[in-house]
Amino acid sequence: MLSQRIQVLSPSLTLAITALARDLKAQGKDILSFSAGEPDFDTPQGVKDAAIEAIQHGCSKYTAVAGTPEVLKAIAGKLKRENNLDYKPSQIVVNVGAKHSLFNIFQAIIDEGDEVIIPAPYWVTYPEIVKYSGGTPVYIETDESSDFKITPAQLKAAITPKTKVLLFNTPSNPTGAVYSKSDLEAIAEVLKGTNVLVVSDEMYEKILFDNLTFTSVASISEDMFHRTITVNGLSKSVAMPGWRFGYLACPIKEIVDAIVDLQGQSTSNINTITQKAAIPALNGDVDVDIETMRAAFERRRNMAYDLLNNIKGLSVMKPEGAFYLYVNTKAVENDSMKFCSKLLEETGVAVVPGLGFGSDGYFRFSFATDDATIKDGIGRIKAFVENYK
Ligand code: PLP
Repeated sequence: MLSQRIQVLSPSLTLAITALARDLKAQGKDILSFSAGEPDFDTPQGVKDAAIEAIQHGCSKYTAVAGTPEVLKAIAGKLKRENNLDYKPSQIVVNVGAKHSLFNIFQAIIDEGDEVIIPAPYWVTYPEIVKYSGGTPVYIETDESSDFKITPAQLKAAITPKTKVLLFNTPSNPTGAVYSKSDLEAIAEVLKGTNVLVVSDEMYEKILFDNLTFTSVASISEDMFHRTITVNGLSKSVAMPGWRFGYLACPIKEIVDAIVDLQGQSTSNINTITQKAAIPALNGDVDVDIETMRAAFERRRNMAYDLLNNIKGLSVMKPEGAFYLYVNTKAVENDSMKFCSKLLEETGVAVVPGLGFGSDGYFRFSFATDDATIKDGIGRIKAFVENYK
């Protein structure tokens, strides 16, 4: 029945554990879920108001495939103002979330057998999108010894004549690692003189802690700007996951044109109301709401980090961004599926097994939930680990 092509896809472990937790909850079990990949906050009022106004004013027609002139201009303005990147509106395409941006990019640039370098642990979707495009994922393993960041030497060793892309993510889902400007300069130095493109997923750029400032990969040098496709969206930083707004920006005309053609023959433009609603978020008009959410994430990060690190047998690196803690369980259990399913069955706590992110012996704990739930959940994890058999 099924195409060969579709059979390369594996189901998402994140979605599987979330569904299992939901089923158990429906059966009346006392479940606390820390598997969510979305903020628990509501969308800012300024965004909702713009959407309501768009509905009232008949914004119900198709738009240009890449997005309205107004939204493309707002994205170009945002990338200039916040990221020091000089993209023209014609170099930007709006997609149905950043997941769709990534999907379109890999469909447009990858041929059978092309290699795509993916630092591990990685976001669950990366290998699947790469495999579906016919590409071969090549993983660079990282751990706590390098703060879950790849080194220039590792990158150099991973590049072969078949390497087409480095798929990069800072701040990282699931580890919360953030690459500094000098980290990125060192990576840029390795790429200089190669034909490797960079796809830079900057979804969590605004969820940063400890007064860090974000550096966009493409802003490092002219050379990096010309080889990078920047991907971003509003799901995480503006709490708009269900609105489905992502975008890509790229100075290479052939790539942008190909993606517009692909999108024109598949989804067409993203919905018109969301394009209107995105404008205040892109123009900085809801920055106060964004900062309120960021500050709450930082407070919860501190609390959850302290509580988890106090559990004998577990250890965790302090994340500098995003809203996840990537917890090492190797002192008690290396099999992350076993650890996470027992934890869910015995305590009602749902977390995502490291296996889904490419590293066994870990779980991902999302702190995109309220303080009381975090305390209760980590209390249950503590009792579970202390009695682990
Ligand atoms: N990139 C990363 C690293 C993510 O964690 C996610 C969502 O979980 C996305 C991209 C996709 O976000 P969206 O499709 O909602 O824009």
